[in-house]
Amino acid sequence: MKVAVGSRTDVGRVRDGNQDSYVARLPLFAVADGMGGHLGGDVASATAIETISSGLQGSDGKVEEAALADVVQRANRAIWDRSQSDPSLRGMGTTCTVLLLQEDDAVVAHVGDSRLYLLREGGFEQLSQDHTLVGQMVREGRLSQEEARHHPQRSVITRALGADPDVRVDAFRLELREGDIVLICSDGLTSMVPDEDIAEVLDTATDPQEAADRLVEIANEAGGEDNITVVVLDTRAEALEAAGAPPPPPDAARPRDRDTGELGPVPGTATAAPESDDGAATATEYRAETPRAWPRRLGIAAGVLIVLAAGCYVGVRYWLDHSWYVSESDSHDVAIYQGVDGSFAGFDLSHIEEDGGLAVSDLPQNLRDNVREGLSATSLADAHRKLDSLRRAAAAYQRQQQRRHHHKKHSGGGGKT
Ligand code: MN
Repeated sequence: MKVAVGSRTDVGRVRDGNQDSYVARLPLFAVADGMGGHLGGDVASATAIETISSGLQGSDGKVEEAALADVVQRANRAIWDRSQSDPSLRGMGTTCTVLLLQEDDAVVAHVGDSRLYLLREGGFEQLSQDHTLVGQMVREGRLSQEEARHHPQRSVITRALGADPDVRVDAFRLELREGDIVLICSDGLTSMVPDEDIAEVLDTATDPQEAADRLVEIANEAGGEDNITVVVLDTRAEALEAAGAPPPPPDAARPRDRDTGELGPVPGTATAAPESDDGAATATEYRAETPRAWPRRLGIAAGVLIVLAAGCYVGVRYWLDHSWYVSESDSHDVAIYQGVDGSFAGFDLSHIEEDGGLAVSDLPQNLRDNVREGLSATSLADAHRKLDSLRRAAAAYQRQQQRRHHHKKHSGGGGKT
C-alpha cells in the first residue's frame, strides 16, 4: 500500500508541556497520550512508543493482530515496572494507538482514548473504541457523541498502559483501499473539534501534512485545552503525487524526501528525523527505513528517557483533578473530596476540598452509611448539590427527631428517654 504521511504535535494553548508522543515513519504509526505528573506522562508515552518500535524491530513479513497486541502488552509492562521502581513515576500511564502498515493492509492495536479514524468514500468512521467512562455511556446509548465531548469526566479513561501489570489490548486488521485516509490522533483534537470538521479538513486538504497542520490549527482555535497530536496517512493518488514520493519498496531503493523529492539517506544510516521548534514533523517522515535504522534511535531515546526520569511527581493528576465525591472526614463531618477514595502505595489519592460543616451523625442512618461509603459526583457543582440535599435531609431528620421527642414527653412516657 502506498501512503503519503503528514504529522504534527502541539502543546496546545493551556498546558505547560506536551506529554503526547508519536511515531510516523513507515511502516509504523502510533500516538501515545501520557498522563501522570509533569514528567511521568512524558516518560509513559515515550516508553510506549520506544518499546513498541523496538518490539517490532526485525519482525519481517506479516505481523498478526495478536503479535502486535503482545508488543503493546510489553510496553504496558515496561511502563508499569518503571513506575514501580521509581516512586516519582508512580501512577503514570498512557494511551496508545498503533498502526503497522503491511503489504496491502494494516494491523492496529489500541488502548485508551486516542483515536483511529478512517475516511473512505466520504464516510468518516472512528474505528477504535474509546476506553473511557463516557465512551462506555455512549456505547450504551446513555450519552450522545456531542454530549460526551463536553462531559466533565470525558478524560477519565478506563484502560491505559502502565496502570496495571496487565492490560487488555484491542487489536484488529484494517484492509486498506486506494483513496482511504487514516487519522490517528490524541484527544486534544477530538475533545475540541467535532468529527464533521475533522472529516472536512481531511477531505479538502491536498496533502496529509497540510491536513495535519490544519487539524492542529482548528483544535487550537477551539481552545487548545490539551496537547494535540495527529498522524495522517493518505492513499489518494493526488496526495501521493503531491508528496512526490514513489512507493518505497521496503527492502530496496533509497527513500525520497516527501517535499523536495530528493533522495534520502541509504536505509540503515538514517538518524532520528529532525523536528522544527514547534514540534511539527518535517518532511522526513516519508522515508522507508529498514529495521536496521532503529537501534540507534533507540539509544538516543533511551538517553532522553533517562534524563526525563530524573525528576517527576505522582498521580494520574488530570483524572484525580476531575474526580469528586462526598464522604465523611476525620472529624466526622460531611466533606467534599477531590480525587478518588483510597490510597496508592501510601499516597492518598484525594484531599478535602471543602468541609460541609454538617455532622454525619445528624443524618438519618441510611444516609450516614451512604456518606461513609462515599457518594461520587460528576463535578464540584454536583458535589455541592449532593451536600445541599444532605443538609436538607439532616434538617428534616432533626425536625422529625424533635417532634418524636416532644411527642414522647407529652404522652407521659417521660422517665426513660
Ligand atoms: Mn490528552
